[in-house]
Amino acid sequence: MSDCIFCDIINKESPADVVYEDNKFIVFKDIKPSAPVHLLLVPKEHIPSINYLTEEHKEMMGELILLAKKIAKEQGIEEGYKLAFNTGRKGGQLVDHIHLHLMGGWE
Ligand code: AMP
Ligand code: ZN
Repeated sequence: MSDCIFCDIINKESPADVVYEDNKFIVFKDIKPSAPVHLLLVPKEHIPSINYLTEEHKEMMGELILLAKKIAKEQGIEEGYKLAFNTGRKGGQLVDHIHLHLMGGWE
């Protein structure tokens, strides 16, 4: 176990309801959903937040957005969804491992 819950999920040391995984990303259901579909798209590299991104992350972050589009389609919510990066405590960030919220499924 590490001191990062998302690293623990990535390392299979904590459980999660995983809907997608490849060598760079893991996608799982938010444990406390605030939408009918609420997934977290998490890069496997431990980056604490958007504020820690550098030029070397440009390609990976582009892939993350394209993955969000793909997962939204797979989840049947491509008609409308929200993507959010909470950043810093004042931005509502509680888990200090960068993640993209994918929320949708409202009528
Ligand atoms: P944020 O406030 O942007 O840092 O979002 C963290 C999100 O992670 C919250 O929506 C939590 O409900 C969610 N969360 C925290 N722990 C877990 C976990 N073990 N499995 C799934 N989601 C989690
Ligand atoms: Zn981490």
